[in-house]
Amino acid sequence: MQTIVVLTGAGISAESGIRTFRDSDGLWEEYRIEDVATYDAWRRNQSLVLEFYNQRRRQLATVEPNAAHYALVKLEEKYKVIIVTQNVDNLHERAGSTNILHLHGELTKARSSLYENLVTDIGYNDIKPGDLCAKGSQLRPHIVWFGEAVPNIEIASGLTSGADIIMVIGTSLNVYPAAGLLHYAPPHTPKYLIDPNANQSVSARNLTNINEKAGTGVPALVEKLLG
Ligand code: NAD
Repeated sequence: MQTIVVLTGAGISAESGIRTFRDSDGLWEEYRIEDVATYDAWRRNQSLVLEFYNQRRRQLATVEPNAAHYALVKLEEKYKVIIVTQNVDNLHERAGSTNILHLHGELTKARSSLYENLVTDIGYNDIKPGDLCAKGSQLRPHIVWFGEAVPNIEIASGLTSGADIIMVIGTSLNVYPAAGLLHYAPPHTPKYLIDPNANQSVSARNLTNINEKAGTGVPALVEKLLG
């Protein structure tokens, strides 16, 4: 069975109603990332950071996976499919994909602000100032903030280097180290980039740009791959 590694970014969830970050003038849902998505922001104003992610989590409870998420589930009929996502939503899980690696964390989890491996499921519940981990320190969102290390990047690069086919969906390939993953793919491996603004400056051998929204471009490519 061939292995398909699928790298997804915020664009795959756009048609579910979750806004991407770079599409909105450098603001993320009206906030500057420096104010809500960095460790410095957390040090300055924990309440604001918690409230920002509480809002994202509440919104997540109101949206549904779209045709692109579901098409990737169908792909499992014929391929081993590994999804490596920059997204912090859970729409791949809710669609039914079985093999998902989150690079930037997950909204539905919290972790200790002191012990990074102390992670707990919180579903769609808020994290409030004063909510503590089992060892007594403040809970924070289980999110990799801008500037923080990405613990799963080595696993992701290993998976990418073993892929028979690569799909990249809805990412501007701007946020490193995730953006560098494509370079781990073997040169002969077919690569498909699905994004309405497919970045013509991305250069890789055997790369096909598909300038379409995920909701139409992904199901069409999946049909083709399923033959
Ligand atoms: P990004 O800028 O890399 O992705 C946006 C990309 O999506 C753009 O290239 C845009 O052309 C494309 N796009 C827009 N609509 C699309 C559609 N309908 N179909 C396919 N592609 C479409 O990524 P980002 O938004 O800057 O995210 C940066 C980081 O912020 C992420 O890595 C993530 O950690 C976080 N984030 C996550 C979510 C989420 O979990 N849904 C949403 C926003 C931001």
